[in-house]
Amino acid sequence: MSSQNFDVIIAGAGIAGCSAANIIAKNGYRVALIDALPESKIGMKVCGDGVALHDFYESNIHPPTKKEIEREVDEIKFFTNSQTHIFSIMGKGLTVNRYHFGQRLLKDAQDQGAQLFSKRLVTSALLSNGKVLGINTKQKENKTFFKAPITFDATGIVASVRTSLPSTLYINESVNAFDTGIGYREYRQLDKSFGNFCAIYYNWDVSHGGYCWIIPKRDNLVNTGILIPSSRNVDANFLKNRFSSFLKINTHLKKSKCLKSEIGLVPLRHPLLNAVSDGLISIGDSAFHTNPLNGYGIGPAMLSAKIAAETAMFCLEKNKFSRDDLWKFNYDYMLKCGKRYTTNKIMKDFIQTLNRVEAEHFFKSLGIKKYYKSGNFIKELSNPDKIKLLYSLSKRRSLFNNFLKLIIKIKSVSSHCDKYPKSSLKYNIWLNELTNKF
Ligand SMILES: Cc1cc2nc3c(=O)[nH]c(=O)nc-3n(C[C@H](O)[C@H](O)[C@H](O)COP(=O)(O)OP(=O)(O)OC[C@H]3O[C@@H](n4cnc5c(N)ncnc54)[C@H](O)[C@@H]3O)c2cc1C
Repeated sequence: MSSQNFDVIIAGAGIAGCSAANIIAKNGYRVALIDALPESKIGMKVCGDGVALHDFYESNIHPPTKKEIEREVDEIKFFTNSQTHIFSIMGKGLTVNRYHFGQRLLKDAQDQGAQLFSKRLVTSALLSNGKVLGINTKQKENKTFFKAPITFDATGIVASVRTSLPSTLYINESVNAFDTGIGYREYRQLDKSFGNFCAIYYNWDVSHGGYCWIIPKRDNLVNTGILIPSSRNVDANFLKNRFSSFLKINTHLKKSKCLKSEIGLVPLRHPLLNAVSDGLISIGDSAFHTNPLNGYGIGPAMLSAKIAAETAMFCLEKNKFSRDDLWKFNYDYMLKCGKRYTTNKIMKDFIQTLNRVEAEHFFKSLGIKKYYKSGNFIKELSNPDKIKLLYSLSKRRSLFNNFLKLIIKIKSVSSHCDKYPKSSLKYNIWLNELTNKF
């Protein structure tokens, strides 16, 4: 049985899905927003709860309200093994109540006219002759399909729609365990208030290639946890053991009490280089739209939602929905942030190859500049600071050599991303050249 017809179907009412639904519905299009969760649970998500303020302005999403904001922060401080502060990224950020934030994004979308279908599991794409015509859903034993010229996959890391497509459509790639970060997160009550900053701890004994974090919430509450950069062979006990060794050495957490703990997955790889198919756009975690260096995904999800919404409305105006018509999304996303996250994946792979001593030396060397404006560390260094950095790294020969190779590779991939094809016809040639560079 079919439900009504819509202009756009959005599978998944998380950050990406609600943000896109809001923009498209605001422009008068009929939007169906479908989620497996009951309406009252939408927005519940294991997360560090931190988000940069500028991402709201860039994606035209209303910033969190008073009820959603738990703390305003103006700095992310990075620490080494020995808990020495090495450098900071300065900028306005918020820690949010993730549930209230998610519920408000949903309400905003509904207020604009998006129609929510909750407690409905999206099982696959509705496919005909290689074209996505909508989605198949299941509610208990009741199977329903929804039809629309454009479908968004916003189902998070499971990517239920996209991965149901045949491999011949070149969009069904799943994330592998090596590139899936696994996070263990606790809400902890401290004996006193944490400062107005987020703290990231690089400690290779606790998480090789990953990090631990403390993010302040309301009053004395913090969100603290550990991110392991690859979920391969990692189980709950492993995560808890590693996190308890962090608890033992961190002075802020010594007298704290755990109120709640959870585990979650986040893609830590380059974005899908092609996220569209005939009638389909994949956004947010489902298209690996996160920063592979740290799993930051709220900003990228909102931004990809905005770009996808603009593409969808452009195509609805023209009444054309082929892969080539939707290609605009790939192009715009790549130039806006895909390029940065593609090169960050190279940086992530480099960092993971460092041993404990090299990692400590590398991060300390980046501390040549104490205050950065963004995570683009190398770009922000002045020429004299770049020389100081190279001099410092040269004290460890293999680290230095690998760093030089890294910079060459990043430059080459970055300039190749600038040449991302405007049409799908030239994609395979572009992709082959990129694969050679990788
Ligand atoms: C431990 C951890 C810490 C993190 N910390 C941060 C942080 O501090 N800051 C930050 O910016 N990012 C953080 N992230 C990443 C961030 O949470 C995600 O990138 C972001 O939530 C992605 O949004 P999304 O809308 O793409 O997916 P999701 O938020 O996962 O939403 C997907 C939605 O789809 C629904 N769904 C899934 N499958 C189906 C289906 N088959 N049928 C119907 N509905 C379905 C789900 O119920 C959900 O509502 C963290 C992630 C983890 C795991």
